[in-house]
Amino acid sequence: MRLALLGVSHETNTFSRVPATYESFDIYRGEEIAAQFGESRSTNAGFLEAAGRFDVEVVPLFYAVTGPIGTITKDAFDRIVGEMLGLLRDYGPWDGVLLSQHGAAVSEEYPDADGEVAARVRAAVGPDVPVGMMLDLHTNLSQKMIENTTATVLYRTNPHLDARPRAVECAEIVVRTVRGEVRPVQALEMPPLVVNIVKQFTGEEPMLGVMRDAETVIERPGMLSASVGEGYPYADVAEMGMGFLAVSDGDGAAARDAARWMASRAWERREQFLGDTPSPAEAMRAAASAEKGPVVLMDVGDNIGGGSSADSTVLLAEARRQGVRGYLQSLYDPGAVEACVAAGVGSEITLAVGGKTDDMHGSPVEVTGRVRLISDGKFEDPEPTHGGFRYYDGGTTVVLETGDDHTLVLTSLRVGNTSRQQMYSLGIRPEDKRVVVAKGVVSPRPAYAPIASEVILVNTPGVTTSDLSFFDYKKRRRPLYPFEADATYP
Ligand SMILES: [Zn+2]
Repeated sequence: MRLALLGVSHETNTFSRVPATYESFDIYRGEEIAAQFGESRSTNAGFLEAAGRFDVEVVPLFYAVTGPIGTITKDAFDRIVGEMLGLLRDYGPWDGVLLSQHGAAVSEEYPDADGEVAARVRAAVGPDVPVGMMLDLHTNLSQKMIENTTATVLYRTNPHLDARPRAVECAEIVVRTVRGEVRPVQALEMPPLVVNIVKQFTGEEPMLGVMRDAETVIERPGMLSASVGEGYPYADVAEMGMGFLAVSDGDGAAARDAARWMASRAWERREQFLGDTPSPAEAMRAAASAEKGPVVLMDVGDNIGGGSSADSTVLLAEARRQGVRGYLQSLYDPGAVEACVAAGVGSEITLAVGGKTDDMHGSPVEVTGRVRLISDGKFEDPEPTHGGFRYYDGGTTVVLETGDDHTLVLTSLRVGNTSRQQMYSLGIRPEDKRVVVAKGVVSPRPAYAPIASEVILVNTPGVTTSDLSFFDYKKRRRPLYPFEADATYP
């Protein structure tokens, strides 16, 4: 049995002004995929693992990925999907396809870009070849995705620590379908419901209960898989919001019942999905007066993993206003890095840092400090991290120690705060700090929760703010809770 492995993965923040061009994508072909992802805990690793587990051949063809930024240009979509589908045709025929997507991709031409990719793959291999698709929990699920796949499986944890086992699960359904052992039937239910980004951690309520419902469904007789899409609120598309997906072995009614049951249970608790986070001033005061550190402040509005600018100065400015010492944060600022490199290690420099990408993430802040270290910004984390990644690259990176006891990590590439190795590799021990900023909502948790005296989610402004009234949605469904409080379901 020969299975093709391919995909294009992007989480599109349609409010971001940084377009996803062809050059934005890292593209891996053939064995490059195994070399890059084989030892990781990612979706691709799970698909590759399936070969040995189920005694089949998995042929890695093509995988394109880029960090969450703005809309994919038509040029990028046409070239990437064109090459991918060409390889699929050239190296066929296939017994099955393993599709490695994200689920929240938006291109200039296709608001449901993942659905479009699934449809093109389906058209290329024909109706009888099983197609299994893996998606991130932040997908905005669509009927088009379901209609064009045999089985779709999502991560079930946020932070995403289960990508690899879920991909194995997805591949197993495909293999068993090819062998004629099962006949997957999918049902998708999309109540008009948005869960605020600050309530998407699956380790506590309300999402803990929602995910338990999915686990309960999986235990039902004849059920092959069940997933919940938390949705990605920063994509202004018709499908934005939660989705509930059940995959049954041959029983359409059972799949529909299961999807509806999960959806109505979530709908009943919809008020628990609303955001309720403190302001930057309140959060900083709480952090400064905490009995012990480090208090980790999640900069929700500048969620790098969600497509933000990585250079928000809102919390830095607040820390200076309140005179907080022992403060640590990273900032994407290639210009400042260049200036520090020119000044050299050990020299004192005064410059404006951060707040330069747009006008949504604070203003540049003038600081005076000593350049303590310059690094190539590369680091590696063998521990479980969000999304199962291992290798990171912040580009040329500078550690600046300011006179008011702030440690600023200035990077020349956007890199999320999802690994403590980012700091250790620069000789910084976040454990010894009073206040540590992690730009994100849930993804920094595996790295920072273990050392934090307290984790506070902060309602900072920005392109990933938890305050969804900040965004001017044009294409979302209406009514949609909580925008329209009187929305009804079913
Ligand atoms: Zn995600």
